[in-house]
Amino acid sequence: MTEAASATRSIPPRVAAFREDYRREHVGPSYSGRAHFAFTSLGALAVIGFALSRVEAGRPWEWLTVPGVFLLGNVVEFLGHRGPMHHRRRGLGLLFRRHTEQHHRFFTHEALACESARDVKMVLFPPVLLLFFLGGIAAPLGALCFTLISPNVGWLFVASAIGYYLTYEWLHFSHHLPPEHPVARLAVMKRLRRHHEAHHDPSKMQRHNFNISFPLADWLFGTTWRPGMSDRKKH
Ligand SMILES: [Zn+2]
Ligand SMILES: [Zn+2]
Repeated sequence: MTEAASATRSIPPRVAAFREDYRREHVGPSYSGRAHFAFTSLGALAVIGFALSRVEAGRPWEWLTVPGVFLLGNVVEFLGHRGPMHHRRRGLGLLFRRHTEQHHRFFTHEALACESARDVKMVLFPPVLLLFFLGGIAAPLGALCFTLISPNVGWLFVASAIGYYLTYEWLHFSHHLPPEHPVARLAVMKRLRRHHEAHHDPSKMQRHNFNISFPLADWLFGTTWRPGMSDRKKH
């Protein structure tokens, strides 16, 4: 993410102008992309570690909570992205504004990479969202599982939900790294990045590739874009 690396990549003038405005208006001098990344990663890992430390002699069926939450998380990611992140919904306008009106204008399929660590602000969720996700979704649903199913399932639910959140954040972060970065050059990351890159094409963003982590729900709902497919095809 050096200036030299970004200078060799051509950024369409409209995207460059949007980036300049966004940085001026929304990225304060005290913002640190590295601190943002560290807070999200360490905060989530601390919760996962604590929740796993509470699991006592987990039985095999209780451990099925982990793949179950990952599959559920994949569908929720798809529906949230295809729904309020791309369509203005009452009470959820902030999601639409931040995603469609800002994230998609800051990054297009022609300019997918961050130019510096400060651009991480436009990739990761705001730090406070981790606390909302934990307090508003993972903890209450985990408590429900704790009470109705078993204490181990409750703790595994919390660990898996926060694990999914972190996986989403890390993968989305990787998609927007410069392509020469060692992580972005891994074969699996190149493949996942191509999926997200096609979604950042304005002609496809309303119809294709809504999974940001693993494209399971896109496959399930038939929304995966493939070369040669008509961009106007409705789903
Ligand atoms: Zn993106
Ligand atoms: Zn999108």
